[in-house]
Amino acid sequence: MSEVQVTEKKHLNFINGEWTGVELGSFDVINPATGKVIANVPKSGKKETDEAVEAAHTAYQSWSKLASTERSQYIRKVAEIMHANKEELAKIMTLEMGKPLAESRGEVIYAASFLEWYAEEARRVYGRTIPGKSANNRIQVVRQPVGVVAAITPWNFPAAMITRKLGPALAAGCTIVIKPAESTPLTAMKLMEYCEEAGIPNGVVNLLTGNPGEIGEAFMSNPKVRKVTFTGSTAVGKQLIRQSADTVKNISLELGGHAPLIIFEDADIEKAVQGAIASKFRNAGQTCICVNRIYVQSSVYDKFITAFKEAVSRLKVGNGLNDGVDIGPMINKAGYEKVEKHVQDAVSKGAEVVIGGRGEIINENVCYYQPTILKDVSADMVVMNEETFGPVVPIQRFETDEEVIEYANNSPYGLAAYFYTENVTRGTKIMESLDFGIVGWNDALPSTAQAPFGGMKESGIGREGGIEGIEPYLETKYVSLGL
Ligand code: NAP
Repeated sequence: MSEVQVTEKKHLNFINGEWTGVELGSFDVINPATGKVIANVPKSGKKETDEAVEAAHTAYQSWSKLASTERSQYIRKVAEIMHANKEELAKIMTLEMGKPLAESRGEVIYAASFLEWYAEEARRVYGRTIPGKSANNRIQVVRQPVGVVAAITPWNFPAAMITRKLGPALAAGCTIVIKPAESTPLTAMKLMEYCEEAGIPNGVVNLLTGNPGEIGEAFMSNPKVRKVTFTGSTAVGKQLIRQSADTVKNISLELGGHAPLIIFEDADIEKAVQGAIASKFRNAGQTCICVNRIYVQSSVYDKFITAFKEAVSRLKVGNGLNDGVDIGPMINKAGYEKVEKHVQDAVSKGAEVVIGGRGEIINENVCYYQPTILKDVSADMVVMNEETFGPVVPIQRFETDEEVIEYANNSPYGLAAYFYTENVTRGTKIMESLDFGIVGWNDALPSTAQAPFGGMKESGIGREGGIEGIEPYLETKYVSLGL
């Protein structure tokens, strides 16, 4: 029995403008705060994936030829519908993945901002004229859409991780097939309803849920899919790179992170505490750019920990639908167990629990973890190396700038890094030395539609957002004209 009817449409695939999939069998979508089943969605496989790609391929012929101003209007309309239905979409998000309602409302605005940004960028896909190689030669460079795009998205930002791909893909003139995360298909289906309401032509936007391995393989082996864009774990990202070889797919990858936060002795400690709280505990610590490890300079180590502990003690854990809750449930038991393993490993190797350090498994589908600070940690602890994806933060002491840069960069990940200092000379040198795609200097919430988001090293390939974010959806064609 469904806990709540969260969408007027049936919970179905959206392929070629039709809601289908009843005959496929289904899997449950579970509210991680209560354990109740809130919907059943189709278990699609290769056949449905091929159908969706075929629909996108057919629609591409006309969508890619529309004037960019027309595509822009469609994209903007979807953003407007999102704003008009903010409460509805936010509630669906909280129900299916647990983040506090206030955060879900924020995500709706954030997700819509990518559509707004790329509705504008659609009109700025400029080419270039190059001086010819001889008097009777002209050279022109034109930008054209890559073709059909397959998008695979994670559960932690169920709306924004879709619009960050959907906006630039549609703006460039591509059509798209989306596979959302198993845990959060309902937000994605709602977005499809909004696309339908905006009048986007059939087949331009398609969505299907189901077996991730089979759908992924079907995308990768289909020559009609010209681009695959993925946000998720580094492990799956690596697998997609391997699978992309046979059809030489154009791929973009937004993968995992292990963000350091460095607090220097000349930092504004109050600002640093606020930044650490916002970055670490948002979404119960389940974000790719959330602070995973903190380094504090010796002279302010105790001062920072005292203030940070006090701020953490005020955070309330519970069902994200309830007022005043700051930290919702873990997405699932596997996520909870990973967090517990990180804490136990650190404590067994000598870390001290400053606050928290435990959680509760209510049942198989509902787990909460207390916001946790660990101090006196060392580099050999698992929590200092693997992505924790939970509300736990270890703190290590450092003495010099050179030492802390080495600590920060000593990771296969290179997504986001943060530091607090009021000294511009020191800050500039630190910023330049960090091997990360995103650097927050006195700012722990850097994500925004107008900036290029993405990682170095094993954190990914490509950027989303900003003027860079449309590039992966464009091909470059050079025309040499003999007069
Ligand atoms: P995940 O397990 O890699 O899943 C991501 C998506 O890939 C889901 O739709 C998943 O489907 C699908 N998938 C799983 N196995 C697949 C396969 N063999 N072939 C094709 N697709 C497959 O990651 P997650 O747990 O959802 O998300 C958390 C991870 O995402 C973290 O590592 C986080 O850092 C990263 N992330 C990165 C960014 C960024 O911008 N860099 C942003 C957000 C999250 P199912 O859900 O059905 O398994």
